[in-house]
Amino acid sequence: MVTKGIVVSSGYAFGNAFIFCEKKININFNKININKVDCECKLFLEAHRKTIVQLKDIKSSIYLKDKKLLFDGYIMILEDKNLKNGVLNLIKEKYIHADAAVHFIIEKQINAIKKIDNNYLQERIIDILDIKKRLIFNINNIDLVDFNFLNEKNNIIIVAKDLSPAQVMLFNLKKIKGFITQLGSITSHTSIISKSLKLTAIIGVKNILDLVKNGDFLILDGVENKIYINPSKKKTYFLKNKYNNFILNKKKLLKLRKLKSITKDGYKIKLLANISNINNLNIILKNGIEGIGLYRTEFLFMDRKSFPSEEEQFIAYKKVARFMGKYVVTIRTVDLGGDKFLPYMNFPKEDSSFLGWRSIRIYMDRIDILHTQLKAILRASIYGNIRIMFPMIISIEEVMFLEKEIEYIKSKLDKERKLFNKKIKIGVMIETPAAAIISNHLAKKLDFFSIGTNDLTQYTLAVDRNNTMISHLYNPLSPSVIKLIKFIVDSVHSEGKKIGMCGELSSDKKALLLLIGLGLDELSMDLVNVLEIKNIIRNSYLKNARKISKKILLKSTYSKILPLLNKY
Ligand code: PEP
Ligand code: MG
Repeated sequence: MVTKGIVVSSGYAFGNAFIFCEKKININFNKININKVDCECKLFLEAHRKTIVQLKDIKSSIYLKDKKLLFDGYIMILEDKNLKNGVLNLIKEKYIHADAAVHFIIEKQINAIKKIDNNYLQERIIDILDIKKRLIFNINNIDLVDFNFLNEKNNIIIVAKDLSPAQVMLFNLKKIKGFITQLGSITSHTSIISKSLKLTAIIGVKNILDLVKNGDFLILDGVENKIYINPSKKKTYFLKNKYNNFILNKKKLLKLRKLKSITKDGYKIKLLANISNINNLNIILKNGIEGIGLYRTEFLFMDRKSFPSEEEQFIAYKKVARFMGKYVVTIRTVDLGGDKFLPYMNFPKEDSSFLGWRSIRIYMDRIDILHTQLKAILRASIYGNIRIMFPMIISIEEVMFLEKEIEYIKSKLDKERKLFNKKIKIGVMIETPAAAIISNHLAKKLDFFSIGTNDLTQYTLAVDRNNTMISHLYNPLSPSVIKLIKFIVDSVHSEGKKIGMCGELSSDKKALLLLIGLGLDELSMDLVNVLEIKNIIRNSYLKNARKISKKILLKSTYSKILPLLNKY
């Protein structure tokens, strides 16, 4: 049994280990002997044939029509005579290895495409690169791991050094029940996504790849933060019982869903949902949620090969708005960069990506991304109670820039005679110390606010939220962050506006009374936590919460704060 990890979302997962290693291939650029030419040509032709067979296999196992079309496109590119003959000729003319020839021919094609001013073709570059990877892997006889198409019969638990949010998004959830990583942090977007997918995950388990072999039977106990490797039958039986009780308790909480989120002395605190995908909206209302406090739209941009069009985005936002009816839907504009990248968009290599070309800063250079999204959101706004929220704000100038762009898109829609909610509410996330400090000015200008503690913590403490080496320093309950939250709440309230929170701290059970006492009006969180949080609220008193928060605000160290949090 291994412990010492960080539990991303409590729960249990049972399955066989699937070790995932991102394989690096070294292309062989050495010259070959003339008598090896035929051999390399044969190697390429065999890899070419194998790649087509693999792609056809993948295509036949997909249900969704648009994804099938994608693979038709791949096969067409591969069957193009220029590609095949180009590689064979290069091997014969330059005496080079098959993988090097594939590399040169495909790079030549990509460079040619880059010179053409055509968005569609630009977006195909990612497909061509994928084909290159598949061909080179096959030439070198290396298996490519495709999470969607794992052939394993049993349930799987992925064991990896690290996983990106996009990789987790692509998990086939019918097969993959959880994961363990060596790296990672609780507020990374990989963790946030896995929570919303209800995957049980334990991260930051430093030596896990030395301990687990492919196929080992694993049990993740995300309640007690334990990982069992090939447990005995007796232990497995015991853990299955624990899992059944866990599910039973979750079901018991369901009776709370129709009850109000109100303290025993009548203080109402609104509970909202954080969502990343819109496939299973039914579950939101099942949890008695009063709206969506954070819709992270970047995940709409991730599970695909090119930017979603205005129409695709409109359909998605309209679906959520309609579904939620009178309840608020807070659509956060796309927050890329940091740890969220798109395979089809060029991101610069930066030393500190969280301090760099991220979020609304990207819009300044790629105004098309903002315009398309604003247009889609505004068009969808007539179907429900949508409000727009911008991330990563650091100044009033940025707000003015965004307001100007909203006005521009509104006037465009007017000209096109398209309807939208003219009084749509505009808000921002307060997730940088800069925004916190000017929160009174922001409160004068805007309609609503939500504290993003995941980023606010990393920027206040200067601790990269994804860096495992310094994760012990990352603490949203440190005195400095708590004081800053208090400052934001008071500043926004002084302008007569409401303030919410949508970072991971809002679902931390031990912080809940403190947050109520600090005066937050709304808490937005992943659905898995909502009923437990409501249960605590319904058993608490506002007057106690205020007393506790006053005491905590006087403490100068976390070691003095923690006993108070635990006590209550
Ligand atoms: C936050 O920073 O607290 C937040 C909610 O946004 P994200 O985690 O997506 O950066
Ligand atoms: Mg954030």
